[in-house]
Order: sequence, then structure tokens, then C-alpha cells
Amino acid sequence: MTYRDLSSTVKKFMFDNPFFGHILMKIKKTITDKVPTAAVAIDPQTFNVDLLINPEYWKKLKPDQRMGLVHHEVLHVAFGHLQVASTYADQKIANLAMDMEINQYIPKQHTSDEWIFTDSPMFKHLNLPPKKGSKFYYQAIEEEAKTNPQFKQQLANMPGGSDHGNWTEYEDLTSQQKKMFDNQQKHNNKEAYKDTDQKSRGNLPGGLSREIEKLFEKKPQVFNWKAWFRKFLGTMLDIARKKTHKRESKRFAGLPGLRTKKKIALFVSVDTSGSMGDKEIADVFEQINYIYKAGAVIRVVTWDTQIHDDFMYTGKAPKNIHGGGGSCIDDVIKLYNDKRRDYTAAIHLTDGYISCNEKLLGRHLFVITANGTKFDPGSKCRMFQIPKDAEEQ
Ligand SMILES: [Zn+2]
Repeated sequence: MTYRDLSSTVKKFMFDNPFFGHILMKIKKTITDKVPTAAVAIDPQTFNVDLLINPEYWKKLKPDQRMGLVHHEVLHVAFGHLQVASTYADQKIANLAMDMEINQYIPKQHTSDEWIFTDSPMFKHLNLPPKKGSKFYYQAIEEEAKTNPQFKQQLANMPGGSDHGNWTEYEDLTSQQKKMFDNQQKHNNKEAYKDTDQKSRGNLPGGLSREIEKLFEKKPQVFNWKAWFRKFLGTMLDIARKKTHKRESKRFAGLPGLRTKKKIALFVSVDTSGSMGDKEIADVFEQINYIYKAGAVIRVVTWDTQIHDDFMYTGKAPKNIHGGGGSCIDDVIKLYNDKRRDYTAAIHLTDGYISCNEKLLGRHLFVITANGTKFDPGSKCRMFQIPKDAEEQ
């Protein structure tokens, strides 16, 4: 068998199914005896889909069966089954549910009686409705297996495996690789949809076209606070460096040792009173860590109504351990105001539900948590709020 043997099926399939034909064109195809029949898998080199076909198996199929086989595999891909498979606890039931979801969209003459349908003899008594998702069918089968021992036995006797190979391999990818794979699949679905005329779009499974249409909706831009914060810290460093340089060259040129270099130092205060999450504290310190590693000195103060901890940062973010009622930042501001010449800037991480009666001197940045509130500090300062969906970035 050569790839040319595939092409007549592929061509006919594309003609009959413009959308799924497009998807089929986008995925890799490999002729291999690694699988007994055919399967779709994740290609570990490109993190795209690989359609694996056993040549001996292919030879035995009639043209209609070949059409059905290709259709079945491409539907799995378009429905995102490689990604969802590992979210199900029972892989055997998951395989049945996913096949049930897609087989009903394949022309009858391209399928055979052994295939899994909502009305296959074993499932007929469940009266499963058509055009439901695999999740629905999974729950229905799982429920029946719990209450019907005979059905459970029948399930156990069914051959496992099927054409799905090892779909739990998706679980083994790193989050970066998962993202690459997901984005590639979304991209393929979108591109295929763009290339499909209105009439053929109308023939697509409803749930699928709704999902794809969602991909075309413009998402509101999420404020990338981490990048902004990093830039802010970088600017602080530049200002400190310039100042140091200017002072020395102008007034103390040639007189080393008269004045020590101004240290690049940050004063970071963390409000541990209310709705502050450890995740948000960790996120902020992840950014602070960049400039710590670049040689900055960082003093950390935690507070609610008074100052609790006061220590030099050595690479470990404080945990939000105190909790409790209201908070007042006055002690912190007093402390900073007195020592402000030692620092480049103060950064306060808070939910914003605080009272502040001290006048802010020097440079301040307030970082407000996603569930927090912006407030009026009475003096000029910078302030921004971490967006609610910041985790998506
Ligand atoms: Zn299948």
C-alpha cells in the first residue's frame, strides 16, 4: 500500500464532505503496522494529529468502508476527542460514548452493523436520544452499568481497545504542548469552516458548528498585567541607575568613596487581611523575582491593621497566613516615608479595602487583587488591578 492508494478515498471524501475533507488535508497520514486497524494519535514531533492506517487492514476494506473509516477518524479529530478522552474515568465507556456521538453523522452505507450506535442492540433499551454529546452518552452508560448487573457484564465482555489507540497520551503532554495541540486543532477547525460554503456548513452537526462559530468571536483583550508590571519594575531600575550615574559624575567625579552608590532597592508590602489569594501573591512575587535575580534588594513587609513580618526577600514569596478583619496601611506608609531615600519605589499588594491616612511620599505602586477594589489614597501614585481572568495569559 502506498499513499497513492489513500488518495482516491481522500478525494471522494473531500468532495462529499468539504468541511471534514479540509480537516483531513490538515492532518498527517501514516501507513504503519503499529496499529491493527486505524487510529488517530498525537504526533509527538509536531503536536498535530496523525492518522495511522494499517496497510493490510486497508486492503481488505471496500471503497464504502474506507469512506466510513476516514469519516469516523476525522470526526473524532474535529470533535476534540483526543483532548477530552482522558477526562473520563472509565476509558471503555468513554470510547463507546465518543463513537456513539460521531457514528450517527456518517452515511449508513459507509458504516457496518458492528459499529456503535445509540440504537445498537446492547443500548437500544436505554432509548438514547440522537445528537447528544459524548458526555451525555457516557453518563447514561455509566448510570446503567451501576444499576444493571447484566449490562455491566456485557460491557466487560466487549473487546476493549477500539480504534482510539492511546488517547490518554494527551494527559502526558506538558501544559505548553497541550496548548500547542489545542491551538492547532482550533486553527484547523476555523480554517476548514472558512473554506466551507454556507450550504455545507448547514449540514454540519449543530453542536460542532456552534463551537466553531465561537472561535470566530473576538475575545476582549485581557490586560497583560504581568508584562506591564515587569516593565514598570524595569523602568524603576533605569531611573535608579541614571540617578546614581548622574550624581557621581557631576558632583563627585574623581572622588571615589565619598558617596556610596545608591542601592537599587524595592519596598514591597503585602496586605494579609482579607480576600488576598496565595496565588495572586505568588504571581506578583514571580515578577518581583526577576529584578531580585538582577541584583535588586527587596524588603518585604506584611500587614493588616499593623505590621507583622518585616524581612529581606531571598527568593521566597510570603504566604498569606494572617487573614482576618480590616486593614490600615498607615504604619507601612510611615515606615516607608521615613526610609524612602533608601528605596527606588514602594509596591503595595492589597485588596484595596483599606484605610490610608498618611500622605504618600516617594514613589508608590498599588497592585489591587482581582476581587479587590480601587481606592483613593489621597496622593499621587500608580495603581492597577489584576484582571479576573489573568490566569489565561
Ligand atoms: Zn472511534
